[in-house]
Amino acid sequence: MKAYDVIIVGGGAAGFFAAINIAEQNPSLKIVLLERGKEGLQKVKISGGGRCNVTHAEFIPSELVQNYPRGEKELLGPFHQFMTGDTMEWFEKRGVPLKIEDDGRMFPVSNSSQTIIDCFLSEAKKKGVAVLYNHSVKSIKKKQDLWELGTTEQVFTARKILIATGSNPKIWNLLERLGHTILQPVPSLFTFDIKDSRIKDIPGVVAKNVVIKVVDSHLESEGPLLITHVGMSAPAILKLSAFGALELAKHNYKFQIKINFIKQTFKDCLGDLKEFKQELAKKTVFKFAQYELPKRLWQQLVLASNMSMTTTWADTNKQQLEALAAQLTEAVFKVTGKSTFKEEFVTAGGVDLKEVNFKTFESKLCEGMYFAGEILNVDAITGGFNFQNAWTSAYIAAKSIIE
Ligand SMILES: Cc1cc2nc3c(=O)[nH]c(=O)nc-3n(C[C@H](O)[C@H](O)[C@H](O)COP(=O)(O)OP(=O)(O)OC[C@H]3O[C@@H](n4cnc5c(N)ncnc54)[C@H](O)[C@@H]3O)c2cc1C
Repeated sequence: MKAYDVIIVGGGAAGFFAAINIAEQNPSLKIVLLERGKEGLQKVKISGGGRCNVTHAEFIPSELVQNYPRGEKELLGPFHQFMTGDTMEWFEKRGVPLKIEDDGRMFPVSNSSQTIIDCFLSEAKKKGVAVLYNHSVKSIKKKQDLWELGTTEQVFTARKILIATGSNPKIWNLLERLGHTILQPVPSLFTFDIKDSRIKDIPGVVAKNVVIKVVDSHLESEGPLLITHVGMSAPAILKLSAFGALELAKHNYKFQIKINFIKQTFKDCLGDLKEFKQELAKKTVFKFAQYELPKRLWQQLVLASNMSMTTTWADTNKQQLEALAAQLTEAVFKVTGKSTFKEEFVTAGGVDLKEVNFKTFESKLCEGMYFAGEILNVDAITGGFNFQNAWTSAYIAAKSIIE
């Protein structure tokens, strides 16, 4: 049996961040980090397409929380303690400057996730954290005020433990046995599979700002839309997939969406089209894209409105103009499934937030047991917010553990 002051379970983003902060704030504590893999930080490595989108340039807590479909209410207090600006400072102080991209995402200046990994590994080593790989935790028990964790290798004891195992069903099962409620995991952040003649031949086309509604639902989002080889992606879709994670899972990822490509009402658009009919009478509708839409998308919407490639504005009849206005403002697409968004994906579900004290990230049911990261029922839209949850929860848990 090996005795420590603190045991961290899981060598991912949250586990390493917590271990380093604990060791830094109280160097006298004996800390061990148990990681089941032969290496840790594997998600950090592949994150953000290998660049690691560390956080997001949103510096107001009440705005920041709006990016969390699960965790919005609970993270407001924690973000007042540690948030995006603190993350920047934390990494910069340790020799990893971050940069902000146009869309607000923050990456290491090096553009490589390895920089983050190297920073964590060297900090953990410098601060004397014992990092043990190939140590999968199989049991969690409490004997009097001491936690006893059984791994594939040996048994470890400590007064305080931090569970940072991400979306791991086996650990969730162990926590259920300790009395915790686990909300069923479902995927979040996925792209939509759509087979439709209007988009079949135009992968790569981007509509800069669209509004998408899920038919027969309150789900709605706004932002850029990308046509892919299998359907649709980009922020407007990913936001829907996150905020609709539970609802869309219930529909088995089969539903309809309505897209407004030009953010105008059908009526206003029809008014515009009638004016075009006068002003552009001799021009072919197909050739000249309107509303600053990408030409290839415009052409597909025109063809879907019962017009040919040679129809001029003067030739158009009432039904054709109405059909085009409908295609531009309320085009319906049938979603038949989902695909993985390779740059980032997460799981909705996990430890019920009602059972966690968000001032300390300690379990309300098991004294001395803390949580950080994706193990909790917290997840965010794409853009660096998921890692920010890992940093914030790990930082506050670390602070509470040393107190
Ligand atoms: C492809 C991809 C790209 C992503 N890109 C981004 C991005 O750019 N920005 C962003 O904000 N988010 C991104 N995310 C989400 C982000 O990676 C996660 O939210 C974050 O990694 C969660 O950190 P964590 O420490 O809670 O869990 P994890 O990173 O999953 O770490 C958990 C660790 O616990 C270990 N473990 C599990 N069970 C046991 C056990 N029984 N015993 C011991 N160890 C165990 C695992 O091996 C793992 O190392 C991405 C996710 C993916 C999959």
